[in-house]
Amino acid sequence: MKHSIDLFKKVVIGYGVRWELGNLIRELGVRGKLAVVTGPRVRRLVVEQLIERALREFDVDVFEAEEPTVEVAEGVADLLGSARPSLIVAVGGGKSIDVAKYASMKVGVHYISLPTVTSHDGIASPFASLKGMETVYSVKTSPPIAVLADTEVFASAPRRLALAGAGDLISKITAVRDWRLAHRLKGEYYGDYAASLALMSAKHVLAFSKAIARGTPDGLRILAEGLISSSTAICIAGSTRPASGSEHLFSHALDVVANYPALHGEQVGLGTVIMGYIHGINWRKIRRTLKKLRLPTTARELGVKEDHVIEALTIAHRIRPDRYTILGESGLTRDAAEEVVLKTGVVGDDG
Ligand SMILES: [Zn+2]
Repeated sequence: MKHSIDLFKKVVIGYGVRWELGNLIRELGVRGKLAVVTGPRVRRLVVEQLIERALREFDVDVFEAEEPTVEVAEGVADLLGSARPSLIVAVGGGKSIDVAKYASMKVGVHYISLPTVTSHDGIASPFASLKGMETVYSVKTSPPIAVLADTEVFASAPRRLALAGAGDLISKITAVRDWRLAHRLKGEYYGDYAASLALMSAKHVLAFSKAIARGTPDGLRILAEGLISSSTAICIAGSTRPASGSEHLFSHALDVVANYPALHGEQVGLGTVIMGYIHGINWRKIRRTLKKLRLPTTARELGVKEDHVIEALTIAHRIRPDRYTILGESGLTRDAAEEVVLKTGVVGDDG
């Protein structure tokens, strides 16, 4: 069976590496106009200085992506279509990067990813999550041509956003197990290498949670490397399978029932405790690590009604029927969902 892998060319990670953007673009052999896709806040805080200091010799157009919706992404794609840049630079948290990914695919121009937060593993993956799609999950685009991960910028982000990415990495523990199940029971393609790589990024968080929790540039470097590894696993698998299983379905279901109540990484982290329990693995260790990272382990900490968590668990299997997981085809009954959240302390005395 043929399997092709599309990967980024270069990753530059370190303190202050954003100033190397101009050199990186020259190294990639790009000439002509640049288009920066960013949000209004990041434009003020990061992009304006970048243009002044690192992109002085380039002709740069800036496009603002206010919301990660299909509508906004289509609008940005239209503008890019007229501006005809030679390269797109996506600067921001998940939102701007997702919009840039989608627009890049539409206009057929490469993009560099310059993330400003370590909140999830979409920073280097070829999948864009946009609101307003027919599905609530993601659309396949291309991986960035290069990733510039500046730990100085990461450390200046709000702590809650910065550490949420650790929750997204921990989720690979159940995602990979769900993928194996789908392989065994449904004959789905399974790649051992991609699975191992995704799992390694989760184990990295378990091993280095103390350093990551400090939120220093060095701690967040460990986290960023894990996020890029997880993105790489997605590139190698050619799907989000190694990075997204039942815990992600639960998070998407929570977005449906409670209208995007918390950060993606926080929701999937808590989902991993629940799905870890159902998988029969050491879910207590996962919960302990989340606590160390000050990530939510209860409905209350997540800021979600207990009933919404239970409801999300009962509908999670319907979010994406083609994605077989431990939830099976019929999902959890309400009784089972109530039992699971009690046993894991997501609701109840602990909660
Ligand atoms: Zn995720």
